[in-house]
Amino acid sequence: MEKRYLFTPGPTPVPPEVLAATAAPIVHHRGPDFRVVYERCLTRLREVFRTENEVLMFVATGTGGFESAVANLTSPGDRALVVSAGSFGERWAAVANAYGADADHLRYAWGETPSPDDVGERAAGAKYVTLVHSETSTGVVADVEALASAAHEAGALVVVDAVSSLGAVPLETDAWKLDVVVTGSQKALMTPPGLALVSASEAAYEAAAAGGAPRFYFDWARTRKAQEALNAAFTPAVSLVAGLDVALGMVLEDGLDAMFERHARLGRACREGAKAMGLELFSPDNDRSAVVTAIRAPAGVDSDELLLLLRDRHGVTLAPGQGELKGKVFRIGHIGWFDVFDIASALSAVELALTELGAPIERGVAAARAFEAYDEFAAA
Ligand code: PLP
Repeated sequence: MEKRYLFTPGPTPVPPEVLAATAAPIVHHRGPDFRVVYERCLTRLREVFRTENEVLMFVATGTGGFESAVANLTSPGDRALVVSAGSFGERWAAVANAYGADADHLRYAWGETPSPDDVGERAAGAKYVTLVHSETSTGVVADVEALASAAHEAGALVVVDAVSSLGAVPLETDAWKLDVVVTGSQKALMTPPGLALVSASEAAYEAAAAGGAPRFYFDWARTRKAQEALNAAFTPAVSLVAGLDVALGMVLEDGLDAMFERHARLGRACREGAKAMGLELFSPDNDRSAVVTAIRAPAGVDSDELLLLLRDRHGVTLAPGQGELKGKVFRIGHIGWFDVFDIASALSAVELALTELGAPIERGVAAARAFEAYDEFAAA
């Protein structure tokens, strides 16, 4: 028997109440049993997105939600500005190109933070601008409010990848005038993978009605109309919706602001603990970086090797470096159903495994420093 620990930024651990809801007997999606859950879940989603817009639900991953945005907004040759500073930003360039957009790629080095001035300069003439709120591959959380404002001033629609940020760090769909916000069920929303959630503004629906690419399943207007009548266009993932409903209830019971504060505290605890051990951060050392902490492997250690050892010998799963960071960094997620004991466990496991690999790190300090930093945040 082995206990397993999941400390990744998605999928994330799922609370037992949510798992229990997903395991309940299947109900028919056109009957009253489901309709009650469906309506409540859609209402809760609007609260968590902080929007009056319908939040469209697709059985898909986050990438599917993003593809829905590109499909609804891209007529061949439409200009789009894609802002990237890591793996997910680059994915959106690939999606936009796949749909025949004339995509201008404002590409930063991985780990950089996009600047509103650059976006403002490059957005002129673009029908839409894609932004990544939390670039999970690097740990950087961008200032989406400022970036969106620069894009709007240039006359573009704003499409935001909030896959790892929604519910974790502040995001105001309506107040920041975000035309499209996409997330997935498997991150801060504490639900298994499988639901893509997309809010779209009236301006985005108008642009979709006036053009876009050929589409059927991902057609926003079809899903919006069906959801408004609580009569889903296609069979929803009823078990995932039941789970998401419970998870959103938990989020709203604590309150979004309390969630955001908890994530900032966890981020700070993780960074301080890692530094105390003598490790160097890859992600920025600031409280905005509250989703995932990316840490450089010490000299001479391959981070993939470290992760294998953690998994095989200690039952602990962390996230690897992606793309150009493969083998160089490892990532500890702290969104959703995480507390400071999870941070202490993750750091203690890293400390142990690095010692086993012969890395020169300071032992016995990371967990203590993490708890201390967690408390200092509250006292500040
Ligand atoms: N964007 C970001 C920022 C992510 O973290 C992820 C998660 O892996 C995705 C997009 C892609 O989501 P999915 O894997 O659900 O398609």
